[in-house]
Amino acid sequence: MSNVHELKYLKEKIEGLKADGVYRTLPVFDGANEAEINLNGKRVINLSSNNYLGLANNPRMKAAAIKAVEKYGVGAGAVRTIVGNMDLHEALETVLAKFKREEAVMVFQSGFNCNAGTIQAITDKGDLIISDELNHASIIDGVKLSKADKAVFKHSDMAHLEDILKEKRDQYANVLIITDGVFSMDGDIAKLPEIVALAEKYSAMTYVDDAHGSGVLGEHGRGTVDHFGLHGRVDFSIGTLSKALGVIGGYVAGSQTMKEWLSHRGRPILFSTSLPPAALGALIEGVNMLIDSDEYSIKLWDNAKYFKENLGKLGFNTGKSETPITPVIIGDEAKAMAFSKQLLENGVFVSPIVFPTVPKGTGRVRCMVTAGHTKEQLKKAVEVFEKVGKEMGLI
Ligand SMILES: *Cc1c(COP(=O)(O)O)cnc(C)c1O
Repeated sequence: MSNVHELKYLKEKIEGLKADGVYRTLPVFDGANEAEINLNGKRVINLSSNNYLGLANNPRMKAAAIKAVEKYGVGAGAVRTIVGNMDLHEALETVLAKFKREEAVMVFQSGFNCNAGTIQAITDKGDLIISDELNHASIIDGVKLSKADKAVFKHSDMAHLEDILKEKRDQYANVLIITDGVFSMDGDIAKLPEIVALAEKYSAMTYVDDAHGSGVLGEHGRGTVDHFGLHGRVDFSIGTLSKALGVIGGYVAGSQTMKEWLSHRGRPILFSTSLPPAALGALIEGVNMLIDSDEYSIKLWDNAKYFKENLGKLGFNTGKSETPITPVIIGDEAKAMAFSKQLLENGVFVSPIVFPTVPKGTGRVRCMVTAGHTKEQLKKAVEVFEKVGKEMGLI
């Protein structure tokens, strides 16, 4: 008799992953997320984090976190609508609205649940969502949770987006166009001016997930909306507090009306405990640091440019990235996995990214350069790429 608790059906699927060469274990490191980390007991250069500005172990933010813990404790104690709304949550929203140059901000516990909770709350039966085909998984899940009808446009294809608007706009009460600001796997930037112009032409709303744009693009890292000078013309600007700001959380920046509605119908606000004091203290400090100085984003771009140029010179295919995200596209999934493994053997940690995260046959390693890397570390990483790339016949 088979035992249902053996989870045989999952074991079979896991065997399938192994057969495809895409099975992996989770990497474990000890110590802070820095430009160099101790991974499985070995010191390696870290080109895998989303810690764009190198703030995940920033002394000022750590001190602010400790101070917040001393005054407020370790947990918020409830969801925000009951008694989990501290003055720190309000203070973070105020400073984020100032940074983003928007009327109001609603903070969530993560970028993921911000998308999952917001999209369903701002759309309803009788509405239409039009989403870029390469949007992030949390947008896809958020769209699935909505009662609205859905359409998908080809990646950054404005003619296709307009075709959908032309054909369907009149059949719906509200239409919401959703795009990533920066696409995380290729590093290309959304054609936001064109998207906004189409939205205005067809009376649609716009929703930009700027998880990889916030802290990176625009003045002081204010994001993709700022980069294109579109303040006031994008209805919902989403960001994370976990990438460039190096802590945890997500937010929607936009109008006071958005905020009021989400405080009543944003399910993660109503049904999930709010961000803890340590995160809030660190984040308030971090956002103020970005308002005061653009040194972090300038260093990030300088490092990214150096690294991308040098990989390109070696003959690697770094795709069409317009941002610090630096994919090195290999193609074959198993080869991409093997490349990452060899790089690690040689002291450079770069995660492989394969199907289903990216389309089949576009397996890659994705290099995430940060403001925290030194030129020496990046130079050494380039040398390792050259050595391993030659050994594996990739260049
Ligand atoms: C990383 C990411 C998220 C999720 O953010 P977390 O704060 O890590 O949950 C959402 N959207 C996009 C586009 C992302 O890249």
